[in-house]
Amino acid sequence: MATRSMLVVMCCFALLESSLGAMKYVDLSHSLNSQTHHWPANKDFEQTVIANGTSPNGGWYANNDMSLGEHTGTHLDAPAHFAMNKDVFYASTIPVERLVRPLSIINLADKAVADRDYYATAHDILEWERRYGMIPRGGIVIFNYEWAKHWNSHDDIFGSNSFDPSTFHFPGVGLCAARVLAIRGVYGVGIDTPSMDYGQSEGSPVHKYLMERNVFFLELVGDMSALPDGGKGVTLMVGAMKIDGGTGGPVRLIAMFDDAE
Ligand SMILES: [Zn+2]
Repeated sequence: MATRSMLVVMCCFALLESSLGAMKYVDLSHSLNSQTHHWPANKDFEQTVIANGTSPNGGWYANNDMSLGEHTGTHLDAPAHFAMNKDVFYASTIPVERLVRPLSIINLADKAVADRDYYATAHDILEWERRYGMIPRGGIVIFNYEWAKHWNSHDDIFGSNSFDPSTFHFPGVGLCAARVLAIRGVYGVGIDTPSMDYGQSEGSPVHKYLMERNVFFLELVGDMSALPDGGKGVTLMVGAMKIDGGTGGPVRLIAMFDDAE
């Protein structure tokens, strides 16, 4: 009997190992350093060395302090960023099951080449669904404008050589598209540009509309070119910092999918 249980356990491990072996993991986050882009209202990321690797009693010891704005680099916008009601989620209170979800990627890079002020429409979402199937309830949708290629240039990321938001020109998402996403019941929406509301929009209508419905955002998402077309079969893990009262925070985004499919 003991031998049979051991065999079952060994088989389970073998199965787990073979399934994990086929899994591919892709990092969708930009690194944090003093050059990392952030919304102008926030401060630059700063790292202060406390110990640099030398220890008075020999051996290695290194340690840093850091200070940063919540909306820095690849980051989460918690719904409390633009909405306030008794149920609203802060960075620390988004239920963890909402942070590991099936991913859909809507690539609109061609539209942004023609028009830097482009915003995704309801039609763009319905077109995507005609091709890939309906966006799953409780999923995460990311709009991919292939903006990560602009990462090394403030002027290209923001579409302006200034830090004044009224001069920004980058693509985003429109209110009609947001309404479709709300109907689909998504838990999160992401974009690889600095904000879900496109640069020349006024009043942050998409932030307000979706965050009042407790949908979180991911902004300045990194390079998605290594993922399957449309994000089909991809699970996204949002490694959100657990900040009490936080309106957001930097995230490590890990996309996982079965490479053998
Ligand atoms: Zn933000």
